[in-house]
Amino acid sequence: MEPRIAVIGGTGLYRFFDGPTEEHSIDTPYGPPSAPISVGTLTRAGTTRSVAFLPRHGRKHEFAPHTVPYRANMWALRRLGVRKVFAPCAVGSLTARLGPGTIAVPDQLVDRTTSRVSTYFDGPAVHVGFADPYCPVLREAARRSGPNVAEGGAMTVIEGPRFSTRAESRWYAQQGWSLVNMTGLPEAALARELKLCYAAVALVTDLDAGIDPGDGVRAEDVFAEFARNVGTLTDHLVRAVVATEPDAACGCAAGEHELPGLDEA
Ligand SMILES: [Zn+2]
Repeated sequence: MEPRIAVIGGTGLYRFFDGPTEEHSIDTPYGPPSAPISVGTLTRAGTTRSVAFLPRHGRKHEFAPHTVPYRANMWALRRLGVRKVFAPCAVGSLTARLGPGTIAVPDQLVDRTTSRVSTYFDGPAVHVGFADPYCPVLREAARRSGPNVAEGGAMTVIEGPRFSTRAESRWYAQQGWSLVNMTGLPEAALARELKLCYAAVALVTDLDAGIDPGDGVRAEDVFAEFARNVGTLTDHLVRAVVATEPDAACGCAAGEHELPGLDEA
């Protein structure tokens, strides 16, 4: 069964299925993706979905946020037949409202990356609508995936791999942005160019430096907090995937541009 829905595992989420999987090594015009793509099935309450899983940072976390092969990852998923992508990720919080352990679904993006190739279109200009960067159908499925899922607001994506200074972090918070992350772009923008539905599902691992008077964000604390909550996050993702109709209608595929090296079918 061709997978129409995918999950891109973030930091700390490297495996998704308990049962058997098929492994797909897909070459792309942009090189290989972060890892072979696993395809398996999820069944809950009589509904079965074929799902693709790709660990964003590789199976051994060999890709840093600024070296993830984003173009290859998204292209390979679409080549495999995927049309809808849930994108879990670790985030820092810029507001006390969203404390560590919170699962939040952002609704907007701010691009603070500096060095990443963020488009498939290197030739004549192709301008893709991105006012609302996330798929409303997938956002709703993620929001309903558990009783305590929070509205995430705007997520700003920084270049990394360093964390923010206190001044940067305070400035982001003053803008009203609520989450900070290192991988949400260009992934979401590339998904839109490929006419894929896409939604981020964020797990808050820490309060960012601007609102926490402590010693600043440390990577080991981020990984530890993610590890504490990865089981809960996975449960939410499974419920969101099973609740999503693979062919649910939305506007994400509405662009009139041609796909880069891919058929519409
Ligand atoms: Zn959509």
